[in-house]
Amino acid sequence: MQDRNRFPQTALDSLRAHFRGELLEADHARYDAARVVWNARIDRRPALIARCAGVADVLAAVRFAREHDALVAVRGGGHDVAGNGVCDGGIVIDLSPMKGVRVDPARRTVRAQAGLTWRELDHETQAFGLATTGGQCSATGIAGVTLGGGIGWLMRQHGLTIDNLLSVDLVTADGRLVTASADENAELFWGLRGGGGNFGIVTELELRLHPVEQVMVAMLFHPSERFADALRFYQTFADREPERMSSTLIHIELPAMPQIPARMHGTPGVILAACFNGPSADAEAAFAPLRAFGPPVAELVGPMPYTVLQGMFDAAPAGAYGYGQCIRGQYLSTLEDEGIEAIAAALRAAPSSGCLFEILHLEGAIARVSEDETAFPRRKTPFFSMFQSTWKDPADAERHIRWAQDAWRATQPFASEGVYLNFIDAGEPAGRVQETYGEAKMKRLAALKRAYDPTNFFRLNKNIAP
Ligand SMILES: Cc1cc2nc3c(=O)[nH]c(=O)nc-3n(C[C@H](O)[C@H](O)[C@H](O)COP(=O)(O)OP(=O)(O)OC[C@H]3O[C@@H](n4cnc5c(N)ncnc54)[C@H](O)[C@@H]3O)c2cc1C
Repeated sequence: MQDRNRFPQTALDSLRAHFRGELLEADHARYDAARVVWNARIDRRPALIARCAGVADVLAAVRFAREHDALVAVRGGGHDVAGNGVCDGGIVIDLSPMKGVRVDPARRTVRAQAGLTWRELDHETQAFGLATTGGQCSATGIAGVTLGGGIGWLMRQHGLTIDNLLSVDLVTADGRLVTASADENAELFWGLRGGGGNFGIVTELELRLHPVEQVMVAMLFHPSERFADALRFYQTFADREPERMSSTLIHIELPAMPQIPARMHGTPGVILAACFNGPSADAEAAFAPLRAFGPPVAELVGPMPYTVLQGMFDAAPAGAYGYGQCIRGQYLSTLEDEGIEAIAAALRAAPSSGCLFEILHLEGAIARVSEDETAFPRRKTPFFSMFQSTWKDPADAERHIRWAQDAWRATQPFASEGVYLNFIDAGEPAGRVQETYGEAKMKRLAALKRAYDPTNFFRLNKNIAP
């Protein structure tokens, strides 16, 4: 294993001769900027950052890493909660310069290179009034989000991102470029839809698109004291939620928006947020039950460009770069009073206003795809939820990490099995990945891993052992 801080100079010179992008070592002026990831808790120093300009660079970087037995981190948007997009020693294969994209408006598809973020992809597809389900934080990478499933504002209508995936170009651990689709390498295509970064480096994705013009948005702001009632209400509301609508409930520090009374800025509150992709008259009817929950202290209801909604939470501390972050996620079925009280109690114990709880209603088109069709597990689970703590000063790290862990532990008795894999953090109990896939899927995924990556070359991820 090469995880020292330098590769031999002759080897680097030879790699450089075959590399179109940038190769950054620790003494390079752009090295520090290139190793920063979203979660400021992660501070790692790779021996080399290979910023790939195209597939040829990815192939060269993989072969180089193999030859030198180097630890490999694969980076797209840099938003992995656990920081798997960067390593100590070893080599970061950074796809972020690869931003090629071609929309086919007639076929309603897009071919997109793996370095794009959702903001960049949405920008291109929205020029044609099209979009596909993508992450709600527009700075996340399209490949990282897709490989774990992909949840977002369009998911209940159009399924997970993987339900819109048509084909994938992938560089394997033995340095080959393969394509996976329903007709070609079908088992690999099955595994890529939910199996994370285990099987190779995605260089390009082909995705199905859908008409999405302006979306209708409702954001209803309530005081923190209404949290338990709001959570109780949200779970019953979910039964009646139309599929063209996706929604979330968040207990969070309220932003300094002009619609919210100034006295509540920066204090904890509840946001019920929904996106409806359809005519405004239908949206009114769909939003009515949400509004019937009771008069909010403020509301924002109306049409909004899809790209604006996608970027809406980016600047909040929980979404932005530069903050330490800890997340503990869990799947939930409908909660009884005791479970709701456990969450409310956890929120009352928060060490600062940088601690949030979010719950999202899944189901809809996600649950209509059969469990066997993709590697993505537990499609029938109604809710995903998470505790997230955010801090600026490293001295606050320990108590914020402890809070997220304690909150999660206290509410585990009320959770259902598993977690949305894209939100697994470092320091979670061993076996979280296995528990989520379940035995049968794990066996099938391990067989695929043995076929494509028998030495576990790609192991900085939600790892499936060969
Ligand atoms: C603020 C925030 C908001 C989020 N919101 C959502 C959301 O709305 N919906 C959702 O589904 N998820 C969401 N996520 C989770 C997100 O899906 C994962 O963090 C995802 O891994 C991010 O991908 P990335 O490319 O940005 O991250 P990176 O850190 O660059 O990569 C993460 C991992 O993904 C794999 N990977 C990335 N690119 C490739 C590639 N080209 N080939 C092979 N493997 C690759 C690797 O295993 C890598 O370690 C959010 C995360 C954050 C931090």
